[in-house]
Amino acid sequence: SIPLGYFGGIGLASRNGILVKGAGFLDVITKINTLVSDKTGTLTKGVFKVQEVKTLLNPDEFIRLTASLESYSTHPVAKAVVAYAKEENLTAPVEVEEISGHGLKGKVGNKEVLAGNLKLMQKYGIDYPSELENIAETIVVVAIDAIYRGYLTIADEVKEDAAGTVRELKAMGIETIMLSGDKQAVVSAVADQLAIAKSYGDLLPEGKVKLVEELKEHGKKIAFVGDGINDAPVIALSDVGIAMGGLGSDAAIETADIVIQNDQPSKIVSAIKVGRITKGIVF
Ligand code: ADP
Ligand code: MG
Repeated sequence: SIPLGYFGGIGLASRNGILVKGAGFLDVITKINTLVSDKTGTLTKGVFKVQEVKTLLNPDEFIRLTASLESYSTHPVAKAVVAYAKEENLTAPVEVEEISGHGLKGKVGNKEVLAGNLKLMQKYGIDYPSELENIAETIVVVAIDAIYRGYLTIADEVKEDAAGTVRELKAMGIETIMLSGDKQAVVSAVADQLAIAKSYGDLLPEGKVKLVEELKEHGKKIAFVGDGINDAPVIALSDVGIAMGGLGSDAAIETADIVIQNDQPSKIVSAIKVGRITKGIVF
């Protein structure tokens, strides 16, 4: 076959909904042996739904305070909480701090609200029932005026083409490793569904960076794919940084070498194939 040449390759990729920011990346992507992937919003839909609310307070008031604080954030978990609440009941929060990989702290009216994961509670020295450690789902734990007041459970689904992508990459000799800021129990359950052998949960953004650095030190050629603000540093660090361009954050998209416009992980396989065609590799 006649090699397309790199400009032809960029065009071919673009017609497949893949934005490649420089011809060299189509070459590098044919050489990767490891795909490191974020979980939420990348291999899963990132469209969370509130499943269950557990509180001893009036549930409407509990939801109102929690959703008011979460209205500050664009995190998929935050969007689920806001969608669950009645919009007319919300109060704009003030003095809000978004703590990456943890959740939020801020004031709603005269109340100091914390909403996030158990790491957030630990960070602020909030005592919570120890059985919360055993909940398998993603949870948003809430403290009001420094007292634990309840939690919501949240669920997300894997994308339709995620398992097929992992399988195809494996057939191409590429191992998939999943990293996430979400709880290990949730991460392990998703990894099982997708037949991903290596997965790491409970990671802060700097933890993702450290893991990718270690893999690089071990000689791995890495493509990283993610969607969040907190993925931008790892996207920058990888041999090929890939961002989800549909629902992905601006920071991830700007930092990436390759942007997948419709957020389908299978486009990673397509990008590798375009790279191979471009180089004239017959397969
Ligand atoms: P991932 O790496 O899977 O994309 P993130 O690093 O974005 O996940 O988030 C890690 C965890 O931090 C979430 O699973 C959630 O428990 C918690 N979290 C982050 N932001 C918020 C928020 N605004 N509200 C509640 N929890 C949050
Ligand atoms: Mg994410």
